Amino acid sequence: MNYNYADIDTRFVMKCPALLALPLVLLLSGCAAPADPDTAQESIQVIAMDTAMLITTYGERSVSAAYAAEDVIRDLDKKLSRTNEDSEVSRLSRAGAEEVEIGEDLRFLLGEASRLSAETEGAFDITIAPVASAWGFAGDQFQVPSQAELDTLLELVDYSQVHCGTSDNPIAALGPGQSIDLGAIAKGCAADKLVTVLREYGIPRANISLGGNVLAWGDRPDGTPWRVGIQDPAKPDDQSVFAGILELTDAFAVTSGGYQRYFEQDGKRYHHILDPATGYPADSGLASVTVAAPAEAWNGTMCDAYSTALFVMGEERALDFWRERQDAFDLVLVTEDGRVVVTGGLADRFVPTEDSGYVYETVS
Ligand code: AMP
Ligand code: MG
Repeated sequence: MNYNYADIDTRFVMKCPALLALPLVLLLSGCAAPADPDTAQESIQVIAMDTAMLITTYGERSVSAAYAAEDVIRDLDKKLSRTNEDSEVSRLSRAGAEEVEIGEDLRFLLGEASRLSAETEGAFDITIAPVASAWGFAGDQFQVPSQAELDTLLELVDYSQVHCGTSDNPIAALGPGQSIDLGAIAKGCAADKLVTVLREYGIPRANISLGGNVLAWGDRPDGTPWRVGIQDPAKPDDQSVFAGILELTDAFAVTSGGYQRYFEQDGKRYHHILDPATGYPADSGLASVTVAAPAEAWNGTMCDAYSTALFVMGEERALDFWRERQDAFDLVLVTEDGRVVVTGGLADRFVPTEDSGYVYETVS
Protein backbone atom coordinates (compact mmCIF):
# COMPACT_ATOMS: atom_id res chain seq x y z
CA MET A 1 0.00 0.00 0.00
CA ASN A 2 1.19 3.52 -0.67
CA TYR A 3 -0.36 6.42 1.22
CA ASN A 4 -0.81 9.83 -0.32
CA TYR A 5 0.16 12.95 1.56
CA ALA A 6 -3.54 13.62 2.20
CA ASP A 7 -3.83 10.28 4.01
CA ILE A 8 -1.26 11.21 6.66
CA ASP A 9 -2.59 12.29 10.04
CA THR A 10 0.59 13.64 11.44
CA ARG A 11 4.23 13.91 10.72
CA PHE A 12 7.33 15.08 12.49
CA VAL A 13 7.39 18.82 11.80
CA MET A 14 10.61 20.77 11.71
CA LYS A 15 11.45 23.91 13.58
CA CYS A 16 9.08 26.45 12.08
CA PRO A 17 9.17 30.25 12.17
CA ALA A 18 5.99 31.71 13.64
CA LEU A 19 5.10 33.50 10.40
CA LEU A 20 4.95 30.27 8.45
CA ALA A 21 2.53 28.97 11.00
CA LEU A 22 -0.19 31.50 10.21
CA PRO A 23 -1.75 29.80 7.17
CA LEU A 24 -1.99 26.62 9.18
CA VAL A 25 -3.84 28.38 11.98
CA LEU A 26 -6.38 29.60 9.45
CA LEU A 27 -6.69 26.17 7.96
CA LEU A 28 -7.30 24.64 11.34
CA SER A 29 -9.91 27.16 12.33
CA GLY A 30 -12.11 25.44 9.77
CA CYS A 31 -12.11 22.35 12.00
CA ALA A 32 -13.90 23.98 14.96
CA ALA A 33 -15.67 21.56 17.27
CA PRO A 34 -19.09 20.41 16.05
CA ALA A 35 -21.85 20.33 18.65
CA ASP A 36 -22.25 16.54 18.67
CA PRO A 37 -20.24 15.25 21.67
CA ASP A 38 -19.56 11.95 19.88
CA THR A 39 -17.76 13.66 17.04
CA ALA A 40 -16.49 16.78 18.86
CA GLN A 41 -12.98 17.72 17.89
CA GLU A 42 -10.60 20.61 18.52
CA SER A 43 -7.38 21.46 16.70
CA ILE A 44 -5.04 24.17 17.90
CA GLN A 45 -1.59 25.21 16.93
CA VAL A 46 0.91 26.25 19.59
CA ILE A 47 4.23 27.92 18.88
CA ALA A 48 6.46 26.93 21.77
CA MET A 49 9.87 25.34 22.38
CA ASP A 50 10.99 26.88 19.10
CA THR A 51 8.51 24.70 17.22
CA ALA A 52 5.07 24.82 15.60
CA MET A 53 3.02 22.23 17.48
CA LEU A 54 -0.35 20.77 16.53
CA ILE A 55 -2.77 19.48 19.11
CA THR A 56 -5.92 17.70 17.94
CA THR A 57 -8.21 16.26 20.58
CA TYR A 58 -11.52 14.40 20.25
CA GLY A 59 -14.45 13.84 22.56
CA GLU A 60 -16.86 15.84 24.65
CA ARG A 61 -14.12 17.77 26.49
CA SER A 62 -11.87 18.17 23.45
CA VAL A 63 -11.78 21.98 23.65
CA SER A 64 -10.84 22.25 27.33
CA ALA A 65 -8.33 19.41 26.98
CA ALA A 66 -6.59 21.06 24.02
CA TYR A 67 -6.22 24.34 25.89
CA ALA A 68 -5.10 22.57 29.07
CA ALA A 69 -2.47 20.83 26.93
CA GLU A 70 -1.34 24.21 25.63
CA ASP A 71 -1.01 25.52 29.20
CA VAL A 72 1.15 22.55 30.18
CA ILE A 73 3.46 23.07 27.18
CA ARG A 74 3.82 26.81 27.82
CA ASP A 75 4.51 26.27 31.50
CA LEU A 76 7.23 23.73 30.74
CA ASP A 77 8.72 25.95 28.03
CA LYS A 78 8.92 28.81 30.52
CA LYS A 79 10.85 26.63 32.97
CA LEU A 80 13.15 24.77 30.56
CA SER A 81 13.99 27.29 27.84
CA ARG A 82 17.68 28.03 27.35
CA THR A 83 16.97 31.25 25.53
CA ASN A 84 14.67 32.73 28.19
CA GLU A 85 16.99 34.29 30.78
CA ASP A 86 14.35 33.95 33.50
CA SER A 87 13.83 30.21 33.08
CA GLU A 88 14.89 27.82 35.81
CA VAL A 89 17.34 26.22 33.39
CA SER A 90 18.99 29.59 32.69
CA ARG A 91 19.18 30.37 36.40
CA LEU A 92 20.79 27.03 37.11
CA SER A 93 23.25 27.41 34.23
CA ARG A 94 24.22 30.90 35.40
CA ALA A 95 24.76 29.66 38.96
CA GLY A 96 27.18 26.95 37.82
CA ALA A 97 28.53 25.14 40.86
CA GLU A 98 26.41 27.19 43.29
CA GLU A 99 23.32 25.49 44.69
CA VAL A 100 19.94 26.60 43.37
CA GLU A 101 16.46 25.64 44.52
CA ILE A 102 14.47 24.19 41.61
CA GLY A 103 10.88 23.11 40.98
CA GLU A 104 9.63 19.55 40.74
CA ASP A 105 9.49 19.40 36.92
CA LEU A 106 13.12 20.37 36.50
CA ARG A 107 14.26 18.21 39.40
CA PHE A 108 12.53 15.18 37.94
CA LEU A 109 13.85 15.87 34.45
CA LEU A 110 17.44 16.32 35.66
CA GLY A 111 17.18 12.98 37.45
CA GLU A 112 15.85 11.31 34.29
CA ALA A 113 18.54 12.99 32.19
CA SER A 114 21.31 11.64 34.43
CA ARG A 115 19.87 8.13 34.27
CA LEU A 116 19.46 8.28 30.47
CA SER A 117 23.00 9.66 30.02
CA ALA A 118 24.45 6.80 32.03
CA GLU A 119 22.35 4.29 30.09
CA THR A 120 23.51 5.67 26.73
CA GLU A 121 27.12 5.93 27.96
CA GLY A 122 27.10 9.68 27.49
CA ALA A 123 25.86 9.76 23.88
CA PHE A 124 23.01 11.81 25.34
CA ASP A 125 24.40 14.46 27.68
CA ILE A 126 22.65 17.70 28.66
CA THR A 127 25.99 19.27 29.66
CA ILE A 128 26.73 19.54 25.92
CA ALA A 129 25.31 23.10 26.23
CA PRO A 130 28.61 25.10 26.05
CA VAL A 131 29.61 23.15 22.92
CA ALA A 132 26.19 23.70 21.31
CA SER A 133 26.59 27.44 22.06
CA ALA A 134 30.05 27.51 20.46
CA TRP A 135 28.47 26.18 17.25
CA GLY A 136 25.78 28.87 17.54
CA PHE A 137 22.92 26.40 17.89
CA ALA A 138 21.71 28.19 21.02
CA GLY A 139 21.05 31.47 19.23
CA ASP A 140 21.22 30.79 15.48
CA GLN A 141 24.59 32.61 15.16
CA PHE A 142 26.21 29.68 13.40
CA GLN A 143 29.98 29.20 13.17
CA VAL A 144 32.53 26.37 13.16
CA PRO A 145 34.50 26.60 16.43
CA SER A 146 38.25 26.05 16.46
CA GLN A 147 39.56 22.70 17.66
CA ALA A 148 41.27 24.48 20.59
CA GLU A 149 37.96 25.99 21.68
CA LEU A 150 36.20 22.63 21.37
CA ASP A 151 38.92 20.90 23.38
CA THR A 152 38.49 23.42 26.21
CA LEU A 153 34.69 23.22 26.16
CA LEU A 154 34.62 19.42 25.99
CA GLU A 155 36.20 19.38 29.47
CA LEU A 156 32.92 20.83 30.74
CA VAL A 157 30.83 18.03 29.22
CA ASP A 158 30.22 15.53 32.01
CA TYR A 159 26.70 14.59 33.09
CA SER A 160 27.96 12.99 36.30
CA GLN A 161 28.58 16.47 37.77
CA VAL A 162 24.87 17.43 37.61
CA HIS A 163 23.11 17.15 40.95
CA CYS A 164 19.36 17.52 41.18
CA GLY A 165 18.61 17.08 44.88
CA THR A 166 15.63 15.13 46.20
CA SER A 167 11.89 15.82 46.27
CA ASP A 168 12.27 16.79 49.97
CA ASN A 169 15.32 18.92 49.28
CA PRO A 170 15.18 20.10 45.64
CA ILE A 171 18.56 21.81 45.52
CA ALA A 172 20.45 21.47 42.24
CA ALA A 173 24.00 22.31 41.23
CA LEU A 174 26.15 21.83 38.15
CA GLY A 175 29.90 21.38 37.95
CA PRO A 176 32.10 24.53 37.73
CA GLY A 177 31.62 26.29 34.37
CA GLN A 178 28.92 23.86 33.24
CA SER A 179 25.58 24.75 31.67
CA ILE A 180 22.74 22.55 30.46
CA ASP A 181 20.60 22.16 27.36
CA LEU A 182 17.38 20.18 27.70
CA GLY A 183 16.50 20.60 24.01
CA ALA A 184 16.85 16.87 23.40
CA ILE A 185 14.21 15.87 25.98
CA ALA A 186 11.97 18.87 26.71
CA LYS A 187 9.36 17.95 24.08
CA GLY A 188 9.38 14.32 25.14
CA CYS A 189 8.74 15.45 28.69
CA ALA A 190 5.89 17.67 27.45
CA ALA A 191 4.39 14.70 25.59
CA ASP A 192 4.52 12.68 28.81
CA LYS A 193 2.70 15.39 30.70
CA LEU A 194 0.07 15.59 27.96
CA VAL A 195 -0.82 11.94 28.53
CA THR A 196 -1.83 12.94 32.06
CA VAL A 197 -3.96 15.80 30.66
CA LEU A 198 -5.68 13.51 28.14
CA ARG A 199 -6.47 10.98 30.87
CA GLU A 200 -7.73 13.69 33.23
CA TYR A 201 -10.14 15.03 30.58
CA GLY A 202 -11.27 11.56 29.49
CA ILE A 203 -10.09 12.12 25.90
CA PRO A 204 -10.61 8.92 23.87
CA ARG A 205 -8.37 9.88 20.96
CA ALA A 206 -5.89 12.64 20.12
CA ASN A 207 -3.15 13.33 17.68
CA ILE A 208 -0.40 15.58 18.97
CA SER A 209 2.69 16.67 17.08
CA LEU A 210 5.35 18.56 19.06
CA GLY A 211 8.03 19.01 16.43
CA GLY A 212 9.90 15.72 16.20
CA ASN A 213 7.71 14.23 18.95
CA VAL A 214 4.35 12.67 18.15
CA LEU A 215 1.74 11.31 20.54
CA ALA A 216 -0.79 9.04 18.84
CA TRP A 217 -3.49 8.64 21.49
CA GLY A 218 -6.22 6.04 21.01
CA ASP A 219 -7.06 5.42 17.37
CA ARG A 220 -8.56 7.41 14.50
CA PRO A 221 -12.30 8.16 14.56
CA ASP A 222 -12.79 5.35 12.01
CA GLY A 223 -11.09 2.87 14.34
CA THR A 224 -7.89 2.52 12.32
CA PRO A 225 -4.45 3.47 13.71
CA TRP A 226 -3.04 6.99 13.35
CA ARG A 227 -0.70 7.36 10.41
CA VAL A 228 2.54 9.09 11.25
CA GLY A 229 4.77 10.07 8.35
CA ILE A 230 8.54 9.72 8.75
CA GLN A 231 10.11 12.55 6.79
CA ASP A 232 12.51 11.56 4.04
CA PRO A 233 15.77 13.05 5.41
CA ALA A 234 17.14 13.35 1.88
CA LYS A 235 14.33 15.77 0.99
CA PRO A 236 13.90 17.92 4.09
CA ASP A 237 12.35 20.79 2.13
CA ASP A 238 9.57 18.66 0.74
CA GLN A 239 7.50 17.77 3.75
CA SER A 240 5.14 15.64 1.72
CA VAL A 241 7.82 13.05 0.99
CA PHE A 242 8.10 10.22 3.48
CA ALA A 243 10.62 7.44 3.97
CA GLY A 244 7.68 5.46 5.32
CA ILE A 245 4.56 5.61 7.46
CA LEU A 246 4.05 4.30 10.98
CA GLU A 247 0.56 3.11 11.91
CA LEU A 248 0.31 3.76 15.63
CA THR A 249 -2.22 3.48 18.45
CA ASP A 250 -1.47 4.72 21.98
CA ALA A 251 2.15 5.36 21.18
CA PHE A 252 4.90 7.93 21.29
CA ALA A 253 7.12 8.31 18.24
CA VAL A 254 10.12 10.63 18.21
CA THR A 255 12.46 11.42 15.33
CA SER A 256 15.93 12.97 15.51
CA GLY A 257 17.68 13.86 12.30
CA GLY A 258 20.56 15.99 11.13
CA TYR A 259 18.23 17.46 8.47
CA GLN A 260 16.03 19.09 11.15
CA ARG A 261 18.49 21.88 11.94
CA TYR A 262 21.77 22.69 10.28
CA PHE A 263 23.89 25.35 8.64
CA GLU A 264 26.34 25.22 5.78
CA GLN A 265 29.82 26.69 5.63
CA ASP A 266 32.36 26.31 2.83
CA GLY A 267 30.14 23.75 1.16
CA LYS A 268 29.94 21.56 4.26
CA ARG A 269 26.82 20.87 6.29
CA TYR A 270 26.92 21.04 10.11
CA HIS A 271 23.86 19.80 12.00
CA HIS A 272 22.64 20.24 15.56
CA ILE A 273 23.08 16.76 17.09
CA LEU A 274 26.51 16.80 18.65
CA ASP A 275 28.69 13.89 19.59
CA PRO A 276 29.82 14.55 23.18
CA ALA A 277 32.97 12.52 22.45
CA THR A 278 34.21 14.86 19.71
CA GLY A 279 32.22 18.10 20.06
CA TYR A 280 31.38 17.80 16.34
CA PRO A 281 28.01 17.07 14.73
CA ALA A 282 27.55 13.30 14.99
CA ASP A 283 28.80 11.61 11.85
CA SER A 284 27.50 8.13 12.43
CA GLY A 285 26.11 7.20 9.03
CA LEU A 286 22.51 7.76 10.16
CA ALA A 287 20.26 10.35 8.54
CA SER A 288 17.45 9.94 11.07
CA VAL A 289 16.39 7.82 14.02
CA THR A 290 12.76 7.28 14.99
CA VAL A 291 12.00 5.70 18.36
CA ALA A 292 8.48 4.40 19.10
CA ALA A 293 7.12 3.11 22.41
CA PRO A 294 3.74 2.65 24.14
CA ALA A 295 2.20 5.89 25.45
CA GLU A 296 2.90 4.95 29.04
CA ALA A 297 4.57 6.64 31.98
CA TRP A 298 7.62 8.70 30.99
CA ASN A 299 8.22 6.83 27.74
CA GLY A 300 7.97 10.18 25.90
CA THR A 301 11.08 11.49 27.66
CA MET A 302 12.81 8.14 27.13
CA CYS A 303 12.03 8.09 23.37
CA ASP A 304 13.28 11.66 23.01
CA ALA A 305 16.59 10.98 24.79
CA TYR A 306 17.07 7.69 22.92
CA SER A 307 16.41 9.24 19.50
CA THR A 308 19.18 11.78 20.09
CA ALA A 309 21.57 9.25 21.66
CA LEU A 310 21.04 6.53 19.06
CA PHE A 311 21.60 9.05 16.28
CA VAL A 312 25.00 9.74 17.86
CA MET A 313 25.75 6.02 18.33
CA GLY A 314 25.16 4.95 14.72
CA GLU A 315 23.43 1.88 13.30
CA GLU A 316 25.41 -0.93 14.87
CA ARG A 317 25.49 0.42 18.41
CA ALA A 318 21.87 1.57 18.14
CA LEU A 319 20.70 -1.91 17.16
CA ASP A 320 22.75 -3.51 19.96
CA PHE A 321 21.16 -1.03 22.37
CA TRP A 322 17.71 -1.97 21.04
CA ARG A 323 18.38 -5.71 21.29
CA GLU A 324 19.07 -5.33 25.01
CA ARG A 325 15.74 -3.54 25.52
CA GLN A 326 13.49 -4.63 22.69
CA ASP A 327 10.39 -5.01 24.85
CA ALA A 328 10.59 -1.31 25.71
CA PHE A 329 10.77 0.39 22.29
CA ASP A 330 11.29 -0.03 18.54
CA LEU A 331 13.24 1.81 15.90
CA VAL A 332 13.19 3.05 12.33
CA LEU A 333 16.69 4.02 11.20
CA VAL A 334 17.21 5.86 7.93
CA THR A 335 20.83 5.48 6.88
CA GLU A 336 22.90 7.82 4.77
CA ASP A 337 23.59 4.98 2.34
CA GLY A 338 19.91 4.73 1.42
CA ARG A 339 18.46 2.03 3.69
CA VAL A 340 15.51 2.07 6.06
CA VAL A 341 16.03 -0.36 8.93
CA VAL A 342 12.90 -1.29 10.93
CA THR A 343 13.10 -3.31 14.15
CA GLY A 344 10.89 -6.37 14.63
CA GLY A 345 8.16 -4.87 16.84
CA LEU A 346 7.27 -2.31 14.17
CA ALA A 347 7.42 -4.66 11.17
CA ASP A 348 3.63 -4.91 10.81
CA ARG A 349 3.08 -1.24 11.66
CA PHE A 350 5.48 0.25 9.14
CA VAL A 351 4.42 0.99 5.56
CA PRO A 352 7.31 1.58 3.14
CA THR A 353 6.96 4.26 0.48
CA GLU A 354 6.79 2.80 -3.01
CA ASP A 355 9.42 4.11 -5.43
CA SER A 356 11.20 6.02 -2.65
CA GLY A 357 14.55 4.63 -3.75
CA TYR A 358 15.21 3.29 -0.23
CA VAL A 359 16.03 -0.34 0.45
CA TYR A 360 13.87 -1.59 3.34
CA GLU A 361 15.17 -4.07 5.91
CA THR A 362 13.59 -5.59 9.02
CA VAL A 363 15.87 -6.70 11.84
CA SER A 364 15.27 -8.86 14.88
P1 AMP B 1 16.71 16.14 19.31
O1 AMP B 1 16.13 16.92 18.17
O2 AMP B 1 15.70 15.65 20.30
O3 AMP B 1 17.60 15.03 18.86
O4 AMP B 1 17.59 17.15 20.17
C1 AMP B 1 18.63 17.88 19.59
C2 AMP B 1 18.93 19.06 20.47
O5 AMP B 1 19.47 18.60 21.73
C3 AMP B 1 19.96 19.98 19.88
O6 AMP B 1 19.36 21.04 19.16
C4 AMP B 1 20.73 20.47 21.11
O7 AMP B 1 20.01 21.52 21.72
C5 AMP B 1 20.69 19.27 22.04
N1 AMP B 1 21.75 18.29 21.82
C6 AMP B 1 22.59 18.14 20.74
N2 AMP B 1 23.38 17.07 20.89
C7 AMP B 1 23.04 16.51 22.08
C8 AMP B 1 23.52 15.38 22.82
N3 AMP B 1 24.46 14.57 22.33
N4 AMP B 1 22.94 15.12 24.02
C9 AMP B 1 21.98 15.91 24.52
N5 AMP B 1 21.49 16.98 23.89
C10 AMP B 1 22.01 17.28 22.68
MG1 MG C 1 15.64 13.92 21.45
